[in-house]
Amino acid sequence: MSTETSTDAKTAALVNISTEKWPPRHRTYFGSLEVRSPEPGEPYAITPIRGCTGVIDMGDKRIMEYRITAREIAEDIAREINSDSGEGSFHGVFVSVGAAPTEAELADARRRLEDFQRRLVAAADLEWERTKNPMFITDLERRAARQLGLEKPWLYDSKPLAECPVCAEKIKHGVAVCRSCGAILDREKAAQYGLLPAGRRERQRNQEPPTQSGTEAGK
Ligand SMILES: [Zn+2]
Repeated sequence: MSTETSTDAKTAALVNISTEKWPPRHRTYFGSLEVRSPEPGEPYAITPIRGCTGVIDMGDKRIMEYRITAREIAEDIAREINSDSGEGSFHGVFVSVGAAPTEAELADARRRLEDFQRRLVAAADLEWERTKNPMFITDLERRAARQLGLEKPWLYDSKPLAECPVCAEKIKHGVAVCRSCGAILDREKAAQYGLLPAGRRERQRNQEPPTQSGTEAGK
């Protein structure tokens, strides 16, 4: 199948400034499409989008073909991803006018993304003030706060309890010694707070091993 080259753009550039990964997009006319995310250090990633021919089955062996331009497809995907989190949400995906985004387009997208992230953080702040319950803070809100580099009390309290590998009791993250069975879970921390039992091994590490000094004395 060949098409005559025309002057209008055959591909559209779907630009993404967010490092978030999305599941592939599906359409009957192109199958599955992965939207690229920028690698660490890259300001954006481009997913080139091609135009497609869609087919409508009219029944009675009649079909109708219709052309969908690259731009229409790209705009459709950008809309779908951006609206993923409710009204006015924006996830940093847009279609650039040219083959690559201009500085102005990138700046605009960054501003819109930041606006959206700040709204998420404000909503989380409000929720936290009311409930003090980290269960009500969404992953999206946490990610927004982290990406904005904001320190929030609701960022860290979210971890569920860990499990002691020895007795399987629920314990807090980062504890040095299991309060249930006494297992030492963080040796360095336990030593720092003098919680290690006065075992010979620990003492030998800091002192001359008696056997060695014994041999030396025998020389
Ligand atoms: Zn334990």
